[in-house]
Order: sequence, then C-alpha cells, then structure tokens
Amino acid sequence: MQHLAGNLFIVSAPSGAGKSSLIQALLQRHTDMQVSVSHTTRAPRPGEQNGVHYHFISVDEFKALITQDEFFEWAEVFGNYYGTSKSTIRDSLSRGIDVFLDIDWQGARQIKLQESSANGIFILPPSLTELEQRLNKRGQDSSEVIAKRMAQAHSEMSHANEYEYLIINDNFATALEEFERIVLAQRNSFGSQASKHNSLLTQLLANTAN
Ligand code: GDP
Ligand code: ADP
Ligand code: 5GP
Repeated sequence: MQHLAGNLFIVSAPSGAGKSSLIQALLQRHTDMQVSVSHTTRAPRPGEQNGVHYHFISVDEFKALITQDEFFEWAEVFGNYYGTSKSTIRDSLSRGIDVFLDIDWQGARQIKLQESSANGIFILPPSLTELEQRLNKRGQDSSEVIAKRMAQAHSEMSHANEYEYLIINDNFATALEEFERIVLAQRNSFGSQASKHNSLLTQLLANTAN
C-alpha cells in the first residue's frame, strides 16, 4: 500500500476481553474512525446483522474469495474461517479514516508483513476468572463454545508481545481512555503526519546546506 492518510490499527485479545466493546465505544466518540467488517463462516449470534457485525458466508463462498485473492488476510479461528477483504480498508484509509481490524494474532502477523505501519493493540482481561465471567455474561455462546474459547485464551495471549500497545481492560472507562489516547497520539506520529502533509513537509524540510 502506498501513502495513506488514515491509520490502520489491529486490535486483538482473547475472546471476551472486551475488544468489540472498546472499539464500538470509541467509534461512538469519533466519526472519522471505522471498524472493518470481516467475512466469517461462523453462524450469527442472536442480534448480529449481516453486513454490520460480519459478512456471514458459507465455507464454499469463503474458499472462492480466497481463490479470487479478495482477502488482505484470513485465518481459521475456533474452527471457523475469518477474513478481512482488501477493498473496504483501502477506500477508508485513502479517505483519511482510521480503520480498526478486530482480528486474531495470525491475521495480525499477515497484516504486519504487508503493511508495516499498522499499529497493534492487544487487550488483556484483569484475570482468567473475569474473562470466563464476561463470556458467560455476554450470554451469546453455548457452554461448549465458551469452553473452547477459554482453552484458546492462553495461546492468543502468548502473542501479546508482538503488539506495540497493551491495554488491561479492568475498569471499562479507564481502558477506553487509554485506547483513545493511543489512537489519537498515533495521528501525530511522524509517518502519519508525513502522509497527510506531504507537500508542506517537502517544502519546509527540504535538504539545504546545513
Ligand atoms: P470475539 O472474540 O468474542 O470477538 O469473537 P468473534 O467470533 O467475533 O471472533 C473470533 C476470532 O476471530 C477473534 O480472535 C477475532 O479477532 C478473529 N477475527 C475476526 N475477524 C477476523 C478477520 O477478519 N481476520 C482474522 N484473521 N481474524 C478475525
Ligand atoms: P470481545 O470482543 O473481546 O470478545 P466483548 O467486547 O464482546 O469482547 O466483551 C465481552 C463481554 O464483557 C461483554 O458482555 C461486555 O459487555 C463485557 N465487558 C467488556 N469490558 C468490560 C469491563 N471492563 N468490565 C466488565 N465487563 C466488560
Ligand atoms: P467471534 O466469533 O467471537 O466474533 O470472533 C472470534 C475471534 O475471531 C476474535 O478473536 C476475532 O478477533 C477474530 N476475528 C474476527 N474477524 C477476523 C478476521 O477477519 N480475521 C481474523 N484473523 N480474525 C478475526
């Protein structure tokens, strides 16, 4: 990808740590941010809408999209396929919108290889007991699915050190403040400012003798 005005953020966490809630809460505060809607082969949860939470598709449709090279990244998570399509992200970033990818560590690695300026943010729960309570409280997955997600939590968390930023989501309001600070600070990183103000920087920072 060449110069893009928006910033790309990868947000990962063990299931139930609160990444979707944090992303949604931040989007409520800022209109120039958006979350990428992934494609998935998992069944919709009660209340999940096609095209809003995910694009829900069959395994055959997913495999066809892989063959057509439609995905920026894709991975198998908890026995289902999940993938991020290329087109939506590029359009949004080029319009100066910051984009969040709510994806697992396998997807994060693939994105980093293709887009090194992507910023990784990892969300941890305050404890494993609290994580399990949140999955139960969310009340949208069966006990088998929750057990599978808890069993995978350790393996997802073992990749936290591959991310630039870490948030412990204990108190939600505090975690949201930290998340917002990270995203807003990134807008003033040199690389981000250089893409937004390319001609000004060329003019002001041009090489002169001393
Ligand atoms: P959640 O963990 O409770 O948010 O449950 P989900 O079923 O929404 O997501 C399952 C897993 O798939 C999580 O680890 C997500 O981060 C991951 N995931 C979701 N969308 C994508 C995607 O487009 N690509 C990849 N690689 N992973 C995804
Ligand atoms: P993820 O997207 O990481 O799987 P969710 O955002 O769906 O996680 O959060 C899992 C559950 O925990 C939801 O019911 C959510 O309302 C709740 N939750 C999220 N953050 C907190 C927090 N800091 N304290 C208490 N409950 C939380
Ligand atoms: P859920 O089924 O609870 O919506 O998501 C389970 C996990 O899949 C979460 O950890 C989520 O981040 C991950 N996930 C969702 N969409 C994608 C995606 O497009 N790519 C990858 N790699 N992971 C995803």
